[in-house]
Amino acid sequence: MSHFSIQCKKCGKTLEHAFCAFCEHCTDALLVTQYHETRFTERPGPGIWRFNWLPVHDPRTAQPGPVVYRSEGLARHLDLKNLFIAFNGYWPEKGALLETCTFKEFEAATVLQNARENGVEGLIVASAGNTARAFAHLSAVTGFPVVIVVPRMCLGEMWYLERSMAVPTLAVGDGDYADSIDVARKVALVRGYPFEGGVKNIAKRDGLGIVMLEAVSKIGKLPDHYVQAVGSGTGAIGIWEMAERFVKDGRFGSRLPMLHLGQNLPFAPMVRAWDRKSRALDPVDLDTELISQITTRVLSTRYPAYSVQGGIYDALTATNGKMYGIVNSAVYADMELFHKTEGIDIVPASGVAVAALSEAVQKGTIKKSDTILLNITGGGEARQAAADRSAGTAERSGEDPPGREPLRRPAGARRAGGARAGGGAARLAASRQGRGGVEWQGARCIESGQPPLCGAGRTSRKELDVQSGCSASVVRG
Ligand SMILES: [Zn+2]
Repeated sequence: MSHFSIQCKKCGKTLEHAFCAFCEHCTDALLVTQYHETRFTERPGPGIWRFNWLPVHDPRTAQPGPVVYRSEGLARHLDLKNLFIAFNGYWPEKGALLETCTFKEFEAATVLQNARENGVEGLIVASAGNTARAFAHLSAVTGFPVVIVVPRMCLGEMWYLERSMAVPTLAVGDGDYADSIDVARKVALVRGYPFEGGVKNIAKRDGLGIVMLEAVSKIGKLPDHYVQAVGSGTGAIGIWEMAERFVKDGRFGSRLPMLHLGQNLPFAPMVRAWDRKSRALDPVDLDTELISQITTRVLSTRYPAYSVQGGIYDALTATNGKMYGIVNSAVYADMELFHKTEGIDIVPASGVAVAALSEAVQKGTIKKSDTILLNITGGGEARQAAADRSAGTAERSGEDPPGREPLRRPAGARRAGGARAGGGAARLAASRQGRGGVEWQGARCIESGQPPLCGAGRTSRKELDVQSGCSASVVRG
């Protein structure tokens, strides 16, 4: 018998087996995992599978988790006594071993395992960058088929580990993350795999909630405050849901952590809506023109899980939460600040989170002695590139590269020399042509296996019609 069931947030209907569904009565409400064990437990050992509150039964592949530690440098800078950092990325000296450098690995690992256990044969994944990288990596590691759809505008930030390059990846020529989701739905119809489902996939939210599991395991109680940058909001919802489980458990505190969520101005639809105390997003705030002005494209979704029952609006309401709009210059400044005070590079989305924390402290919303969990959702890309340089040297001299987990590194897997400093990973974009499209090496139609008819590997939103077969290009590395 399963250790969990799935319940509708609105009407309370319980389902025993469901993959990625909405309630049959309530299409505007999230389903949430109900674990039969209301007490939090963890088995000894490393990685994410030691926790009891995950919707999987028999994972076979080791998966490293977040590293939660008490900050010294940044805490001193902000004059905070109890600042804890959840670092998700590559920083082997701290024990952080996520080669894709993003917390989306927990999501991907949990979703793929949950899908496998539900008899699903493959998944279509739409992503603005980091999710694609995580799914492609874990598809390659676990052998579970996925097809990735990404917007071209995010490709500049895309990179894959070399072994993930074989995972079919479809680039949507003109359009953003929301267009990619539309295309992913079409591909799902053609390919026969389900769409991974976004926020309504309980495994996705519980997987991202692992950050809270690790934090409570480390800190021994719920933090007073939780700080993160949000795009779709799925991660923050997962965190809130995990916190609710801890409150029900009763041994780790009785109050939900206050959520402090940041977005990158000027594209900050949830910040704007929350300022108005409105459950509805304003279409004006979802203008794609705004997306071109932000530095953190991974936060660019125009379909955030804000209004849905059980979404960000409800999470902020339940936790007396706050939202922060962060300008590009502050993002860069706080990425630098983090590097200087903590000693590791972080991605722009994490810079948004650090800036949100700074603002909350300045405003006095967060007090000096409060216990704070800052979620650094991605980092260590430069650190990893440095590791690659030394790994390249080690491979040539026949040694094992340091800080790697052999289980996750299939024999013979090597990284590509790519556009990134040090050649740690291959940029997905093979070459850019100045003809209003992207030209791909090895592009093939997803249906026919032929090169796409719309031009030499070029796609555009107008040309893309998956039903007709040959107008979408698939990169096969
Ligand atoms: Zn319902």
